[in-house]
Amino acid sequence: MIESLPPCPECRSTYTYEGETLLNCPECGHEWPLTGPVEGRTEVRDSVGNLLADGDTVTVIKDLKLKGSSGVIKVGTKVRSIRLVDGDHDIDCRIPGIGAIGLKSQFVKKVAD
Ligand SMILES: [Zn+2]
Repeated sequence: MIESLPPCPECRSTYTYEGETLLNCPECGHEWPLTGPVEGRTEVRDSVGNLLADGDTVTVIKDLKLKGSSGVIKVGTKVRSIRLVDGDHDIDCRIPGIGAIGLKSQFVKKVAD
């Protein structure tokens, strides 16, 4: 992660380090807010290798059994406004009729809105 931080905008130092909410430059003392996605963040890709991003719409590519219930998320179910998270289930989303749920990116496919 460290080596993927952007260089200092003031002096172009590449020794940038990450503070709690700011990026810090040890060479000129400049501090600036961390904006946008940090490069090097784990990429989340769908079943066919499309890069996924927060807010994307995906469809489920196979029936997925719901843990602890008899429910199933049917193949073809459209899921809007996904949110990427860290972990085994790397997609956070809300499915109508089911509620908030975590999905695995390998079982979805990105669709154009
Ligand atoms: Zn600097």
